[in-house]
Amino acid sequence: MLPYFVGAHVSASGGVHNAPLNAAALGANAFALFTKNQRRWQAKSLEEDVIQAFKKNCSENNLNPDQILPHDSYLINLGHPEPEALQKSREAFLDEIQRCEQLGLVYLNFHPGSHLRKISEPECLSKIADSLNWAIAQTDSVIAVIENTAGQGSNLGYSFEQLAEIIHQVEDKSRVGVCIDTCHMFAAGYDIRTQEHCAEVFEQFEQIVGFEYLKGMHLNDSKGGLGSNLDRHHSLGQGEIGLEIFRFIMQDDRFRGIPLILETIDETIWTDEIQLLRQFSQA
Ligand SMILES: [Zn+2]
Ligand SMILES: [Zn+2]
Repeated sequence: MLPYFVGAHVSASGGVHNAPLNAAALGANAFALFTKNQRRWQAKSLEEDVIQAFKKNCSENNLNPDQILPHDSYLINLGHPEPEALQKSREAFLDEIQRCEQLGLVYLNFHPGSHLRKISEPECLSKIADSLNWAIAQTDSVIAVIENTAGQGSNLGYSFEQLAEIIHQVEDKSRVGVCIDTCHMFAAGYDIRTQEHCAEVFEQFEQIVGFEYLKGMHLNDSKGGLGSNLDRHHSLGQGEIGLEIFRFIMQDDRFRGIPLILETIDETIWTDEIQLLRQFSQA
């Protein structure tokens, strides 16, 4: 049976090659990172020595590409209603995929996009899928991993149906997947506070999206309440969700073999949170 891969979104400050070292220092066997500054459009290309150092630091710490979930820039909106801004986002996304491919990575996690109240939800979902088709056609292998959102503002991807619709419109299904963020799903209205509710919600997920598309999870508690649409993470057990969902995930084999990533707000307790999750899987 595949192991549970548990880690956190670690810093890549000083260069992406530092991220696997930061993950290993936490006792993690998974990690997420930004391959460029997530708040800027431009980035210099990755240098060959950095790429080699990244690969070496990963392999020396037994961190394989399927344990790593890179996240794209927050600026990118693949569903942008305006043609010029959409093209800018698409090109930035293509660059992000190419950076992942240079690093030998297999996933790229992204937020689907926002209609900015200028186009309808179906139109926006189609633009997102078209953006994926456009980027996938120009690249070799990276799987575009759609993250569910809290539904804050005009962000789409807050329901399983919306995730499924994007996948439906992507031509090459082998190049698309999803990452479910527990904070976002709760804020979007999925009640995951009890074992019973967790089982029901993930049964819905199986019916509407399908576990074959699940490529990663973001494990976060939520400062906002159920259905609040607030994207505000909290440390495990300290927010409105509580610990049951994390126990559920760590005791269900469907979550093995994919990166399970903490994006919780207090990085000084990540080591403890990782240990807590591992204890759940051994219980
Ligand atoms: Zn995200
Ligand atoms: Zn997330």
